[in-house]
This record gives sequence, structure tokens and C-alpha cells, in this order.
Amino acid sequence: MYFKELAGYLERLEGTSSRNTMTDILADLLKHAGGTEIDEICYLILGELVPAYRGLEFQIAEKMMIAALAAAYSTTREEAARRVAARGDVGDAAYDLARDHRSLGKRMTVAAVYRAMYGIAEDAGEGSQERKIRAMASLLSSLDPLSAKYVARIPLGKLRLGFSDATLLDALSLMVTGDKSGRRAIERAYNVTADIGALASRVKRGGLASLSRLHATPGIPIRPSLAERLNDINDVVKKAGPIVGVEVKLDGFRTQIHVWREKGGVHVRLFSRNLENTTAMFPEIVHAAKKLPVQSVILDTEAIGYYARTDTFAPFQETVQRKRKHEVAEFAARIPLAAFVFDVMYRDGTSLVARPFRERRRHLQDLLGRRTGAGTIRLAGQRLTDDIDVIKAELTQSVNKGLEGLVVKNLSAPYEAGSRGFHWIKLKANTAALGNLRAGGAGGRIKGLPDTIDCLVMGAYRGRGKRTKFGVGGFLLGVPGRDERFYSLSRLGTGMSDEQFRELGRRIKAHEVAAMPKEYVVDKEVAPDIWIEPSLVVEILADEITRSPRHSAGRGRDRRGLSLRFPRLVRVRDDKKPHDATSADEVSSMHRRQKTASSK
Ligand code: ATP
Repeated sequence: MYFKELAGYLERLEGTSSRNTMTDILADLLKHAGGTEIDEICYLILGELVPAYRGLEFQIAEKMMIAALAAAYSTTREEAARRVAARGDVGDAAYDLARDHRSLGKRMTVAAVYRAMYGIAEDAGEGSQERKIRAMASLLSSLDPLSAKYVARIPLGKLRLGFSDATLLDALSLMVTGDKSGRRAIERAYNVTADIGALASRVKRGGLASLSRLHATPGIPIRPSLAERLNDINDVVKKAGPIVGVEVKLDGFRTQIHVWREKGGVHVRLFSRNLENTTAMFPEIVHAAKKLPVQSVILDTEAIGYYARTDTFAPFQETVQRKRKHEVAEFAARIPLAAFVFDVMYRDGTSLVARPFRERRRHLQDLLGRRTGAGTIRLAGQRLTDDIDVIKAELTQSVNKGLEGLVVKNLSAPYEAGSRGFHWIKLKANTAALGNLRAGGAGGRIKGLPDTIDCLVMGAYRGRGKRTKFGVGGFLLGVPGRDERFYSLSRLGTGMSDEQFRELGRRIKAHEVAAMPKEYVVDKEVAPDIWIEPSLVVEILADEITRSPRHSAGRGRDRRGLSLRFPRLVRVRDDKKPHDATSADEVSSMHRRQKTASSK
């Protein structure tokens, strides 16, 4: 396929916010794609070159792209910068410049453009900045205006088409079956091998039948299993029992550890909750993983600062300092880190995803049992019980230790990759659960919310009063709907410290956009002064979910949506992508259960 044709599809996708229309356009594109290019097309339309887990970053800042535009279209950097500022978008500026320059473009194939972009991303080391600019300029100057528009956006992560991998899975189903009947099989495969390009190639070549042979593979991340919430602690045993596994909910970095042996060497890869490659962040885990007595293994763990001598955990704020890559070694020395292993999905050539948890736990004990209490990779503690009082006591104890709460597990459940359900139930300390438990009232029944809510920051208000010194006076929060659009849920203003205000104000700067993103559903009366593209997710603690005529999340036939009472910022969730935020459906379900709980 020529890149120009792909750009035509991208333009149509950009022009619609209807998920059905997008799915149809994508299915048409995938049908037309050849078997050898479909993977590259999938990555490109998601604004990437390879799946995030392979960790190839462009390392191109806007300034460099402006320099490339100037060189491509024989103008000055000042003029190129002026065009970008005037259009508020590097892609639109590239389009104008290419048009004015009368760039007709060569007939470049998708594969040729992909190869050129790959080379630019891979170039690193001394002098690479200048080389990247030159190569980008040369690529842009070979393209027609529409192609240039999208090629300029991709390296900056600003493709802004308004859909995620979920829509692409629907489109793949449409491509092979003509409807959504293949979606389940495709999603199952994607949950255990989260590489959408490889999956698309496989479906294109072998159809749905080829997916049944697809299993977890060391080196390719598995989509994480997620925990459901409960309003009434007394229901835990009923939902996941009769006997449940009670584990402490540690508050660190979720880390999937993959180990495999190949060509005489041991390979280790680590992945975060959102499946990014975090191998470089935890050298001591990599070191310890290489010594595990296995041919191959995939482990689910929480990596957290841990002081073995006193058996105490570092608070999240300390563990998180690891994120700054260049200081990894310094923090490794200062805050010892341990990965607490709570699940295993693969061992020595066999996928364990479908096996019941009690069997997977036996594997873990066999693998790590003797090592408990020592080393960087440790077995997470677990208590088996059918007694609700034991669970309540464990929750109180976990909180007294400054931990996040508990995760209670169904021993018969498979590893539910990519799905949230009652196979795991989280009981969080900072929510109403503990307040009620402490007060002794309601015997652990939760009147308020059972969990924090992860929201997207959609915009900011300039505001009045003392906060104006931070540049903004408050934020608009939203959550994703089933159609992948984002719906407004609440304002966030007073529930933040000055320090948090400053941080969030600073973080939104890079993501400001001139107009409301097309995938936002926001009423005029709550429209913010500044729009922010889908990028930042924040964790919010609130007292209650209320009905609101002004917000669009969970809006029913009576036109009333949902909102949050007394929202407070807990932290920015860098480990979540916008579509990983709490969904509008989940907020609605919490709202319904909150009502039932208080009327009990
Ligand atoms: P949260 O904000 O509650 O961490 P989440 O969406 O990231 O939300 P959930 O599925 O709701 O994740 O809760 C499970 C999370 O708890 C995991 O992502 C993991 O990081 C953490 N965790 C800590 N200890 C455990 C454990 N023993 N078993 C499972 N998950 C654990």
C-alpha cells in the first residue's frame, strides 16, 4: 500500500468521533493491507513503530521537528515555529508548509516510510539529534502534504485519532468475519500476547482458527488481571470462596517478569502495568531473575522498596523515585527493592494461564518457597481462610503497617488476563472500608466508595483566588465510556495541596491543545478554559458519587449524569493510559452499589 493511501484513511478517521464509523474505516483499511505490512500499519495508526513493550522511542522533541520542517521546506526555523504555533499542531503546520512548497511527493510505500521512521528512531548516541533532524527532513520532503501531516505527528505522540487498541480489535474481527463475532477469540489472544501487530498478521494469514494455537510467550507481555471492588466486606467469601487466599495489597510498581533461555543466554524483560518495557529501571530484579531455577517463566509481581531487616515497606513516594532513569543506580543503593511475586502465568514451556490459582500458587511455592525471606524476588505472603473476621483483622493489620489494603483471591480462578472481576477482590484502606471497620459500625459494610477512581485530566480552569499563582485554578476530570470517548465527571479544585497544584499545572503544559479533542463529551457549562489532550490519569478519592445534570459520565435518559462529592487528588497515575482509567460503567456500578449499601 502506498503511504498516501494510508494517510487518506487517517484523514477519514480523524474526521469522525463515531466509534462505529471508525471501526468500519479501520476494517476497510485492514482488509486492503497486505499480509506483510498489516503489522506496521497497526503500529503506525496507534502512533507507534513497535508495541510499547519493545521500548523504541523516537527521542524527537517538538523543537527538533520544527527544525526538520524548516529544512524540508526551505524555510527558517523561526518561520516553521511560527506556523506550528499559529496552527497549534505540528501536523497541520507540516501540511501547510508542504502545500506551499508544492510537494507532490514520491510514491512511497508504507513499508518504505516505516523503514525510514524506524531508522530515525533507532539512531542514538553522539550527533544523533542532528542526524535525526536531517533524516526526518529528507523523509518529509519526499511526501505529499497529507502524508507529511501524519508523519510529523507520529514521533511527537500526537496522532490524535481518538481510538485505542480496543477499537482495533473490533476492526480485526470485522476484517475476518464481517461482524463482531470474532471479537472474543481475538481479544482472548490479545490478552495473553499483547502485540497487536503480530496478532493482526496472524489473523490475516491464518484466520480465527490460528488463534487457538496462540499461547502466552516469554518476552511478550500478558495483559494484567485486575481486581473488582466490593461495598460489603461481608460478601467477600460469598463472592470468591468458600476458602479464599488473602494477600496484602502492596503499593509499588506492578511488574511482570519474563525469563527465557535462548541461544545459550538468559533473557529477562520486565513490563509495567500498562505493558511498557521497564527492564532498565530495575537492574537488581533482572540480576535476581537470571538466577531463578527455570528454563522460562512469567511472573506477576509488585516491586516495592523493602527493608528486610525491619520487614517494612517504603511508601509509594519513595519507591516511585526510581522512575528517573539516570538515577536508577543511586536509588538502587539507597532504597533496596524487592519484587513480591503473587502469580505465575508460564513455567518451563507450559502456559499456566488457564490453571486454577491454587495450582499456580503451588508452582510459586515450589519455585520460591524456600527463598521466602531472602533475596530480591520473593514469594508474596498469603493466608487461606473462610472466616470473615480473619479477613477484617488482616485488613486492619495491613493498614496499621501503612499498606494499601488487601487483595482477596478465588483459588479456583484461572489467570484472568486483561479483565477485572471477582477472581480478585480489592479492599482498600484509604476508602470507606476501613473507616467503617474502625468505627465498628455496619460491621465492615461500606457506606462510601469502595475504591478510589482513576480519572483523565480533560482540561483546566484559569480560576480565581490564591491558586491563580499556579497558572490554573482547578481541573476538569473525566472517565472513558464504552465507545472510547471521554465523559466529564467532576471538577477538582480544593482537594489538592499547593504542591500537587503546582505539579499538575506543570504536567499539563505539554499536553495543552487549542480545541476540545473530538473524543470528549463535555457540556458547555463545565467547559474548561484550557483543553488537555488525553494523556494524564489521576487517582481521586471521593466521599460519594452523586447525580449531576452538568456532567456527561453515566448520563441516563433523565439527562442526569454522575459526579463526585469532595474529590481529592491522591496521585498522578503514570502507570495508566487514558483508556485504563476507571470506566464510566464502573462509576455507574459503584453508584448503584453505593445506593444499595446505604439502603441495606
Ligand atoms: P489500584 O489503583 O487499586 O492499584 P489498578 O487498576 O492498578 O488499581 P487493581 O486490579 O484494581 O489495579 O488492583 C490490583 C493492583 O494491586 C495490581 O495492579 C497490583 O499493582 C497491586 N497489588 C499489590 N499486591 C497485590 C497482590 N498480592 N495481588 C494482586 N495485586 C496486587
